[in-house]
Amino acid sequence: MSERYDDFLRKELGIKEQAINMVNEAEQELQPMFTELDDICAINQLKVLKAFQDNRINATHFNWNTGYGYDDDGREAVERVYASVFHTEAALVRPNIVNGTHAIATTLLGLLKPGDELIEASGKPYDTLGNVIGTAKEGDNFTGTLLDYGVLYKEVPLTPDMDIDFEAVRSAISNKTKVVAMQRSTGYDWRPAISLASIEKVVTLVHEINPEIIVFIDNCYGEFVDTYEPTDVGVDIMAGSLIKNPGGGIALSGGYIVGRADLVEQVSYRLTCPGIGGECGLTYGQNRNVLQGLFLSPKIVNSAIKGATLCGVIYDKLGYEVMPRAFAKRSDIIQAIKFGDADKTCAFCNAVQSSAPIDSYVTPIPWDMPGYNDQVIMAAGAFVMGSSIELSADAPLREPYIAYFQGGLTYEHARFGVLKSINSLI
Ligand SMILES: *Cc1c(COP(=O)(O)O)cnc(C)c1O
Repeated sequence: MSERYDDFLRKELGIKEQAINMVNEAEQELQPMFTELDDICAINQLKVLKAFQDNRINATHFNWNTGYGYDDDGREAVERVYASVFHTEAALVRPNIVNGTHAIATTLLGLLKPGDELIEASGKPYDTLGNVIGTAKEGDNFTGTLLDYGVLYKEVPLTPDMDIDFEAVRSAISNKTKVVAMQRSTGYDWRPAISLASIEKVVTLVHEINPEIIVFIDNCYGEFVDTYEPTDVGVDIMAGSLIKNPGGGIALSGGYIVGRADLVEQVSYRLTCPGIGGECGLTYGQNRNVLQGLFLSPKIVNSAIKGATLCGVIYDKLGYEVMPRAFAKRSDIIQAIKFGDADKTCAFCNAVQSSAPIDSYVTPIPWDMPGYNDQVIMAAGAFVMGSSIELSADAPLREPYIAYFQGGLTYEHARFGVLKSINSLI
């Protein structure tokens, strides 16, 4: 950045010379990667634009009705646009899907019946999914889980080099297997996001064994990271959160489910009830936010991923273990840093909180969040509460004390979050 900008950082914001130089140098080294990311962003922007134009989006789609929400043109338009962007037959995009976990749980509970088998092909899933499946640690189980309903469950751990164990997935498949699920993003784990190439390999091997087996993917944090999506490589159904990538920081809440029409219909009977499906459901005036957020999302994801990449390179230079590795190709927007120490982890989250536009003056405190089995500290000084497409950092307080950094509605802001976090370290 310019001398003028660096001066502002030093004089107005108290950032040390050493931190400024470090980030400037890392950014220089990252230029080729940033150019590639800008190209991905440009393609995704046009892909989204084309979906709006192909579906003839107009101002009446911002209207909404009341009661049952029959014939809500806006809701139907939003769902057509999502289906176009993800190249699927159908979509459910609803503000009353309360989060990503709910979108995933609705999908799994909609697809699986007693005696059906679910295989998680990417190892232990995200913490909150443990409660949905019924595998969360003893004493903390709920009723109405998949196991409770008599669904059979297998988990295939990743290989030592942290990719899908394709042969183990092949041998796990039985004549009861109904769904093979994968989680693209890291979750609270220590692994890179699953690549689209590996996802495609799983789709091929599963469908070679039995084309009836449904391949599902949790695409949280994966949207618009590349020019194509899991549904472009044959995934049958996919879910994600609107307060992450595709909401573009504008959607106030919600989740999406996209995929084959028959499967989305089946899931819609779980979202509402059999017979009603996706034909009812109020949108509470959110269609405009959801559409505008989707339109902005490619650029927002571009900012977030550049911020995460910068963060990874900087902490690698500072001698911390980072995941994904510095300069590695990414399949999500998350940067994990192993601090190995609760205080450092909290200090990092604190620095990110103090860089926020909202609640910058508060100190995040670890708490017992619903759905999680360890205390979690979350820095999210966001316009939308808990939104992690906005600059945020969080960490479950357990060994080996890994903090997860993500988001940034602008790269300039994410960059500042990185500067602020290293300012106290050096
Ligand atoms: C965020 C996330 C979810 C869903 O989390 P919510 O907080 O319920 O939105 C699921 N899987 C992964 C990998 C995630 O990152």
